[in-house]
Amino acid sequence: MSNLSLNLVWLYPDLMNTYGDRGNILAFLYRAKKRKIDLKIITVSLKDSSDLILQADILFMGGAQDTQQEIVNKDLFSKKGRFLKEMIEKDIPGLYICGGYQFLGRFYKTSDGKILPGLEIFDIYTESPKTQAKRLIGDLIIKSKLFPNRYLVGFENHNGRTYLGKKVSPLGKVIFGGGNNGKDQTEGMIYKNSIGSYMHGPILPKNPELTDFLIEKALEIKYKKKIKLKKIDDGFEKKAKKQVLKKIKIKFK
Ligand code: GLN
Repeated sequence: MSNLSLNLVWLYPDLMNTYGDRGNILAFLYRAKKRKIDLKIITVSLKDSSDLILQADILFMGGAQDTQQEIVNKDLFSKKGRFLKEMIEKDIPGLYICGGYQFLGRFYKTSDGKILPGLEIFDIYTESPKTQAKRLIGDLIIKSKLFPNRYLVGFENHNGRTYLGKKVSPLGKVIFGGGNNGKDQTEGMIYKNSIGSYMHGPILPKNPELTDFLIEKALEIKYKKKIKLKKIDDGFEKKAKKQVLKKIKIKFK
């Protein structure tokens, strides 16, 4: 082991975990281990103490459907939200997928018109159209300013349409798929060191550059200096990405 260690707080793993989101945790563990970083996973759900969140060097929350989202929304609102806000504002890096991403905005309007107030951490809002017929489902490919020469690939499945305000920037531009709302070609969001995205699939195993980006940010915040991760063999990860791009016929970069 190097003497580097990180705590990853995984929010609501029992409720917010769809379409393989757990794979993101496996990717974090794998890539940290390859660099001999001791990555500890701390799970935090309804019954757990909210201040566990304060131990995080990295935060992660996956997606869910509206039923689970309502349960988690109540818990975030009454207990854990303020801890999460404190950490996000303190630049603690995090990844928030789909439903997890939607929560942190100003509000989420369900398809039956109910308004769930958001945590108002990210300057975004989400509305679900009344009909499920227009769900945005399928492969999602974007170009992100974080990695200008590469594509990020994932799989989306959501009804909510997210719109970005001025205080956040998109994670990327949609090349294929729906992204935030199917209209303005934005996908996901960046605020401080937090990333929101509609990419399930899961996102990290197919996009190792993003996993390393979050690990490096977490090390930088914790140890107060830039720590460059050593390169590792990404052969399988590249193959997986290539496969998606081949299906959509975009030349792999
Ligand atoms: N309920 C949300 C939607 O359909 C979230 C879905 C998800 O997290 N996969 O928009």
